[in-house]
Amino acid sequence: MTLAQAGPRPAGLSSAEATELLSVHGPNAVAQPRPQRLPSRILRQLTDPLVALLIAAAVVTTALQDLTDTIVIALVVVLNTSIGVVQEVRADRAIAALDRLAAPTARAIRDGNDVVIPAADLVPGDVVRLEAGDVVPADLQLRDAFRFRLDEAALTGESVPVERKPGDESYAGTVVVVGRATGEVVRTGPASALGRIAELVVGTRPTLTPLQRRLARLSRVLGLTAVVLSGVVFALGLLAGREVVTMAVTAVSLVVAAVPESLPAVVTLALALGAHRMAQARAIPRRLHAVETLGSVTVIASDKTGTLTEGRMAVQTAAVTDATRYTVVGAGYSPAGEVRHDAEPVDPPEMLRELGRAVLLCNDAALLPPDTDHPQWTAVGDPLEAALIAFAARCRLDVDGERTAHPRVAEHPFDQAQRRMVTVHQNPDGSHLIVCKGAPEAVLHEPVVTGPPATIMALRTAAADMAADGLRVLAVAAAVADGSVDVANPAGLRPLGVVGIGDPLRAGAPDTAAMFAEAGVRLVLITGDHPATAAAIAGRLGLLDRDDQVINGDTGAPGDAAEHARVYARTQPEQKLDIISALQQHGHVVAMTGDGVNDAPALRRADIGVAMGGGTEVARQAADLVLVDDELATVAHAIGEGRRIYDNIRRFLRYGLSGGTAEILIMLFGPFLGLPVPLLPAQILWVNLLTHGLPGVALGAEPASPDVLKRPPRSPQESVLGDGLLRDVLLGGLAITLTVLGAGVVAHHQGRPWQSVVFVVLGLSQLGVAMAVRARRVHGGPGNPALIVAVAVSALLQVGGVLVPVLRELLGTVALTAPELLACAAVSLLPGIGLLLQRRLRLTPTKTPPAQTPSPHTAP
Ligand code: ADP
Ligand code: MG
Repeated sequence: MTLAQAGPRPAGLSSAEATELLSVHGPNAVAQPRPQRLPSRILRQLTDPLVALLIAAAVVTTALQDLTDTIVIALVVVLNTSIGVVQEVRADRAIAALDRLAAPTARAIRDGNDVVIPAADLVPGDVVRLEAGDVVPADLQLRDAFRFRLDEAALTGESVPVERKPGDESYAGTVVVVGRATGEVVRTGPASALGRIAELVVGTRPTLTPLQRRLARLSRVLGLTAVVLSGVVFALGLLAGREVVTMAVTAVSLVVAAVPESLPAVVTLALALGAHRMAQARAIPRRLHAVETLGSVTVIASDKTGTLTEGRMAVQTAAVTDATRYTVVGAGYSPAGEVRHDAEPVDPPEMLRELGRAVLLCNDAALLPPDTDHPQWTAVGDPLEAALIAFAARCRLDVDGERTAHPRVAEHPFDQAQRRMVTVHQNPDGSHLIVCKGAPEAVLHEPVVTGPPATIMALRTAAADMAADGLRVLAVAAAVADGSVDVANPAGLRPLGVVGIGDPLRAGAPDTAAMFAEAGVRLVLITGDHPATAAAIAGRLGLLDRDDQVINGDTGAPGDAAEHARVYARTQPEQKLDIISALQQHGHVVAMTGDGVNDAPALRRADIGVAMGGGTEVARQAADLVLVDDELATVAHAIGEGRRIYDNIRRFLRYGLSGGTAEILIMLFGPFLGLPVPLLPAQILWVNLLTHGLPGVALGAEPASPDVLKRPPRSPQESVLGDGLLRDVLLGGLAITLTVLGAGVVAHHQGRPWQSVVFVVLGLSQLGVAMAVRARRVHGGPGNPALIVAVAVSALLQVGGVLVPVLRELLGTVALTAPELLACAAVSLLPGIGLLLQRRLRLTPTKTPPAQTPSPHTAP
């Protein structure tokens, strides 16, 4: 291979020029889909089958000049539609806000410095740097390119990476698979390649989440059941000699009342609120799907670097060929610091300086001095390489001087499969210096290095010691050559030494691991690191039991061990896919973290791909959840949020469906107990409006119960009504029915206005159930004032139905006396109290956690 010649250092724009150009060309963003217009939103609500049914009923009542029913029906339709539209707008806003938070960034040269800016701020003329893992932010003309390959599938559908050379164009939206390049922006935003295809896809509607789809199916089943049962009520009414039209309106009202029509609104509210809260906790869901899937995660597969560790690396120790080991000290990435031998500061000897020079040159990172925004030195690029620069400086090397004196002329960038990197530099005397650094197994063997076997063995031993201490280890080799060099397969290099790089465990990492354990989510470590390093870290996290094995990706098929293994070392990116698939086949819902370019497929395959805010752009764009602070504990909170949403949907179903069941049962059995028409259509609709409307939707905002993260995840196969919910619904419905009919029969016997009693007790007892299904309060924790207000308002309107003359007229009710109302209120507490008692009794369950024994993956 010949040596590619590097071009002059590209200059880039000044901030002033960039601002000026931005106002001319506009932001570098693809056209946003046009927001939905209000009329079309309303229309969609009105074409819901249930609402359509109501409108049909309204047409009938209007034709019959039955004004009151028409008014009540119209009220239901208007309120329902408004709630639906408001929730939809909220959900859309939540998604738009998420898009803004997870906006892509680019590394550009401004005012002569490397800066990371929002990709939307790029303008033609900007000089952009690209490396593996970046998504090309605009159409570029390449100035220089080293082994630069792009995956252009986003534009061409062809996923075989293509090589691009200086002078070629690289298009927005394509992904850098390997290599490095610098390019000048030629087109941005809608004028770029991505803008052109984006125009074609703008306007595609977001799809429903799996839960929304499952609930839609459930609604259909419920609707059908309600239709059949209402048909029975209708038939019974006819047999009793009632008018066909009256019974038809009654039946329609009953269907509407029995089906929880605010369910979609509750779900969208819960999802949008959940997404918002997660984003506040610095975990940004990129789609609403993620919010609900998080609730059922059973395994979290974490790559070690930067998630459980600080991701802030420092060279802690170095060994050179004469078998001397040095320790290196210094704060963070600061160049200040010193080298010690046997705890005594020493002048770095030439052997160590040679090692330092090598890792400084074979390096793409940069260190930025402290400024007003950053009180410390910061790393640009790979933190591991940044640590090597600080190390070189601590060896008293002149960082900029060495880099200028040895310009890079060729290179073979690091990739996770080969685990090494090679660069070639021009020496001042015209000869070439080849440097190779990488994992010890990838460097310290023939033919890459040659030398006395004892020296190589000694370095391998030093490397193994460092790995056992939990350090990441790099071996370094170099040679001087005059001829051409094969950078992909270097040979005959001289070993220089090994460095041990410490990436300290995050202070909270063991607690995070314990938190996942408590929540029944299995934490699995998948890393490209050495087995000894991985085992050391896993041990500190308490992940490994005595007889647990570290699976070595270099020697085994990791997928086979998926059911039990906790730690995978030396894993190749494709093996991550196998592990995830194997886990999914065992019925697990897998969240997987990743930050590298090769992680994108695994992030997509996982049920929840989690990208680090500090990772590569492709990883972020492939992920479902982006962790802004790179903190794994945030995932646990997000899981809690997902579980909360699911809990709230089930709370709503329990509340709404038991009310609906009761309404049908009352209409079915009332006539047999001497209550010929238990409720008029307008009354049914009024109760339905007050119960399903505000209180129902407010249930979607219930806070998490204190044990969300202290119980095992639900089984992904479980139906929404599973785990006893259906039974609870029927029991609750029965309790309300007995209470209401009991009160009605007593009132009937005493010659009181029994129908109004039935009406009031039915409404109030449902509201009592709403209060009883609430989450258990944490002392001093957040409440849900909206629910209290909603229940209070609904209770007032319910009682108002028999007290306010206009409403009495509208609803066909009769005034109740104060003692009667008090008695009604007291009786109405019964179902709620019963439910509370039932919950109390069931607080000491001894269930086997489903996460430990999941059945094969069957449900969607
Ligand atoms: P992880 O999964 O922990 O992020 P990586 O796949 O990034 O691990 O790295 C695997 C191994 O490759 C490391 O243990 C290290 O020896 C080597 N390595 C990592 N980064 C570089 C680099 N920039 N240059 C050379 N070698 C590297
Ligand atoms: Mg890594």
